[in-house]
Amino acid sequence: MSKSSQEIIALFDKYVIPNYTRYPVALVRGEGPFVWDAEGARYIDFFPGWGCNLFGHCPRPVVEALKSQVERLLHIPNTWYTEEQGTWAQLLSERSFGGKAFFCNSGAEANEAAIKFARMHTAKGKYKIITFTNSFHGRTMATVTATAQPKYHQGIEPLVPGFVYCPYGDLAAVENAIDEETAAIMIEPIQGEGGVNIPPTGFLEGLRALCDKHDMLLIFDEVQTGCGRTGNWFAYQHFNVVPDAMTLAKTICSGVAAGAFIAKAEIASSLRKGMHASTFGGNPIAAAAGIATIKMVEDENLLARAKEMETRTKERMNKWKNELDIVEEVRGVGAMIGLQLKIDGTPFVQRCMENKLLINCTHGTVIRLLPAVNTPFDVYDEGLDILEDALKKGA
Ligand SMILES: *Cc1c(COP(=O)(O)O)cnc(C)c1O
Repeated sequence: MSKSSQEIIALFDKYVIPNYTRYPVALVRGEGPFVWDAEGARYIDFFPGWGCNLFGHCPRPVVEALKSQVERLLHIPNTWYTEEQGTWAQLLSERSFGGKAFFCNSGAEANEAAIKFARMHTAKGKYKIITFTNSFHGRTMATVTATAQPKYHQGIEPLVPGFVYCPYGDLAAVENAIDEETAAIMIEPIQGEGGVNIPPTGFLEGLRALCDKHDMLLIFDEVQTGCGRTGNWFAYQHFNVVPDAMTLAKTICSGVAAGAFIAKAEIASSLRKGMHASTFGGNPIAAAAGIATIKMVEDENLLARAKEMETRTKERMNKWKNELDIVEEVRGVGAMIGLQLKIDGTPFVQRCMENKLLINCTHGTVIRLLPAVNTPFDVYDEGLDILEDALKKGA
């Protein structure tokens, strides 16, 4: 592997479908909060693996668990049992609401399971699912329909029937939208792609009450927020609410592809035998990475670390808010940070990249950081210096 970035880009131009906007850099190696390109330049990565790499790049305990697993068993179908899948389900269950798991390979796939589950579980005739403005649930036909952002719908209509959109945070609108055909409410307890949006006080609890009253399921999409990212195991644990089911992906395997759908034990068998499946779901490699991820969060006390990161980040960013006209608001829970600007944030991503810091901008004006929860604070501060400098120079 010794091609230059330019040579690698040429390969893509010729052979890879250009459905992504990519930075003109090929990455070859990563370690913790750092990643290196083909020319040997080192970047501080505040957005490792688009939020999947909870501990940054190639965390040792996960790498070791994977090495040991690939020597034993790569893949077997779900017609057999493995200790790894069972143990992984147990660990997730014990840290959430005591539910049972179905494993798959991505966030969209986990949400597909949730959508099917909602329709199979609820009474005949109930099929509608309420979702929210600025949500993101994935790119398959059903999950992109669940995603209430029109920009993702253009050109692929007709969409899947049965989704109803409400403004995020507007409980009265949800109450109005419910009818006898409504099966479920599906929501990110903290929105990610929509700009790191934290629900208004009482909103999630209000949704819970509506679901209880109208015999509907409350489903939380924790694909971005799950597994310790926010300083609790799951984001819903910051609120006084428990869902009927939740979906996980991004963070749960430190960067190995996987997803999970978890439903309360007493209703989980509504995902009936023969009605849903995923060939690679819960495979031994994903399970080994999933177990190692949970263990690492605990061994290294990373829930507390994520909370410390939040305090540190807010202290620093609130100073920027006071000093800089372009900063509107600082939002964040744990190692999930949104810096709301009054102007387009994309030029800052470019400027930071030139200065060897990788960040993200979402929803046009929100600088989003999903740093490794164990980023050493001296490295973290160094990255924030680069971002501060870019913001001061006005990109
Ligand atoms: C990324 C994301 C998804 C989609 O996950 P994929 O693995 O890309 O299918 C779904 N929901 C949320 C909240 C996400 O952040």
